[in-house]
Amino acid sequence: MSGNALEAHLVRLIRETGPIPLSHYMALCLGHPEHGYYMTRDPLGARGDFVTAPEVSQMFGELLGLWLADRWLAERSPSPIAIAELGPGRGTLMADALRALRSVPGMLDAASIHFVETSPVLRAAQRERLPDAHWHSSADELPDLPLFLVANEFFDALPITQYQRTERGWCERYVGYAEGRFVPVLAPVAAANDKALPPAITAAAGGAIAETCPVGISIISGIASRIATHGGGALVIDYGHERSAPGDTLQAVRNHAFADPFEAPGEADLTAHVDFEALAHGVRGGGATPHGPVGQGTFLCALGIEARAGQLARNASSTQREAIGQALRRLTASDEMGSLFKVLGITPPGSEPPAGFA
Ligand code: SAH
Repeated sequence: MSGNALEAHLVRLIRETGPIPLSHYMALCLGHPEHGYYMTRDPLGARGDFVTAPEVSQMFGELLGLWLADRWLAERSPSPIAIAELGPGRGTLMADALRALRSVPGMLDAASIHFVETSPVLRAAQRERLPDAHWHSSADELPDLPLFLVANEFFDALPITQYQRTERGWCERYVGYAEGRFVPVLAPVAAANDKALPPAITAAAGGAIAETCPVGISIISGIASRIATHGGGALVIDYGHERSAPGDTLQAVRNHAFADPFEAPGEADLTAHVDFEALAHGVRGGGATPHGPVGQGTFLCALGIEARAGQLARNASSTQREAIGQALRRLTASDEMGSLFKVLGITPPGSEPPAGFA
């Protein structure tokens, strides 16, 4: 075994306490203060491990910004407000959104900018783009103001819990260590809380794997409850499924290729598909109204991405025009990010369906 520092820490932990819950393994791989994946590096971009939509094109952040403006105007331009982002990466999305918002009289004057970010490396990158933002380590710390929030590829990075259906019932999956490798192991007794699994999943056949993301549900309910109380709106964009369904979606990506989630902990990005049905349920639990999800392609086209691409292309060289066309395809085509990625809208209860969710 190659033996990095996090691996040594995990092996010791498992030797001392026995197998650890998968959620605990994932949380340490991503967020261990010294050796966690996000704590030690900027994973984004061509030289990193993966490329996200705001890094593909400025059009993504601009259109999301204009969606927030549309919500702000629909609520009769409240002031003061918080414009916030969960897991802002390099700050690219927010920088593009704020540039688009300069054309909306009064909105930026009313706003303070808030980032929920745990990675010191990415906080530094964000501070370079947006020095006047406010940073928080948890969404609970956001101010009590009308909240206009976006989260792109944030929920897929939160730790999940997995269960497997056995003759004994739904047993939680843990991570053990045997013969020099991390291996999944099943809890010997059925989980007491399997009632939390959606009915569509509890009916699954023997051997099926079910996933839940309790942290994600708690964060989305908190956001929904702020929006229900203070007003505002939110967009959650991520890859995942519209309906809760059984399946093991834990995946590792390193250098733009799939890797083994149980190898080289802390050195690969670990994610799981987002269960949008469960998120929408969490939104309702927080007292707000979920909209969608709709495919990212459908959503961006409804918001006018084609017109925006045409506008950018008009002043561009032929090489640039080609790049704009490629970015448009990458963001919207269903064999690219257009269908796998989905958009969930959140508004206060009783609002009309917002732009893109008609
Ligand atoms: N939204 C950006 C980055 C996506 S990567 C983009 O689209 O390019 C995931 C982001 O979430 C990173 O900024 C990472 O540091 C942050 N993150 C991951 N887990 C987090 C947590 N538990 N709390 C706050 N931020 C987190």
